[in-house]
Amino acid sequence: MKSQIKIGTVFGVELGLHYSWLVIALLITFSLVAQFHAQNRDWSEPLVWTVAIVTGVLFFACLFAHELSHAVVARARGLPIHKITLFLLGGVAQIEKEASDAKTEFWMAIVGPITSGILGLALLALAWLLGWVPRTSPTTPGTALLVWLGYINLALCAFNMIPGFPLDGGRVLRAVLWWSMGDAERATRAAARVGQAIAVLFIGMGILQFFQGSGLSGLWIAFIGWFLLQAASSTYLQVQTGNLLRGLRVSDVMSADYETVDPDTSLEVFVHDRLLRSGRRCFLVSKDGRLLGLITPKEIREIDPNSWPSRRVGDVMRPADKIHFIPPDLPAVEALETMGREDVHQLPVLSNGRISGIVTRAHILQVLQSRSELAAFPSRRRAA
Ligand SMILES: [Zn+2]
Repeated sequence: MKSQIKIGTVFGVELGLHYSWLVIALLITFSLVAQFHAQNRDWSEPLVWTVAIVTGVLFFACLFAHELSHAVVARARGLPIHKITLFLLGGVAQIEKEASDAKTEFWMAIVGPITSGILGLALLALAWLLGWVPRTSPTTPGTALLVWLGYINLALCAFNMIPGFPLDGGRVLRAVLWWSMGDAERATRAAARVGQAIAVLFIGMGILQFFQGSGLSGLWIAFIGWFLLQAASSTYLQVQTGNLLRGLRVSDVMSADYETVDPDTSLEVFVHDRLLRSGRRCFLVSKDGRLLGLITPKEIREIDPNSWPSRRVGDVMRPADKIHFIPPDLPAVEALETMGREDVHQLPVLSNGRISGIVTRAHILQVLQSRSELAAFPSRRRAA
């Protein structure tokens, strides 16, 4: 997921917001306004709105604290993390590599709910110190804010501990299974299955509640179920992909016949005589045997066609120092992950300082397709 609004950087981790978050921020503010109105009829309109907005902003800080705790543990255990994005249903800390052992996975996952739980209890304790009587509705703006934030953090802790992969609870479950089975893949598959079962349960419960007259909250539960089902299924697919591509290295799937283009070629000539005729998407830009960069339709799309005759390939190419090169012995599945992360369709393969070929996403997907067609064959025959 790409973060669409950048907020800033904390501990070297980039914080961002997905646009869908704005919908939630508005919903939360409006529901807080309604709640504070109902509980404290003597509060003035500006007071209600101020408390609602401040509460909303602090809620959002609590979500970041939850995600940041994942990031800090990941960092401490040597896993790089650069970005946290908040979206419709919470946050995602984009950890670039999967944990390599069960213990790391366990601590990385459980620290989030622990953070939310502690925050929740601390906020409620603070409200209590300020005179709030538990199980009554708070009367001052300060305690109203603290009590709402306290309960929402406890809810966040509980929601995230649902053992549906890829929620934190699902990751904890996966880590425990991983540790007891000693097999990361089987553990992921099992955790994803549990996640799917829980998701279906949520959807069923939500629909049932909806027809029993609970209205929107029923639909909301069903929606969360649908989201969990999607997430569990895509995790499952990821594991399948890893299985199917197992044993395959970049050198097996790369193509050694690639085309090069001189940096001084005009864009006009390059597009019409080469790009639109050859059916290739990626050309290496080189001069006297030295690699300078690469050019694909993506770089050209950003240039106004009227200026193509006056621009050179060398001006618009992606320069070599901005290209991610991969070694030939890299597992193919990692090449696919890198392409997904960097949103590119191909990666040049570098061996001993020289380009030895190009790996394209399309090619790996074709290999994947052949492998999945043949992998399904024996089991189908057995079933007949
Ligand atoms: Zn979490």
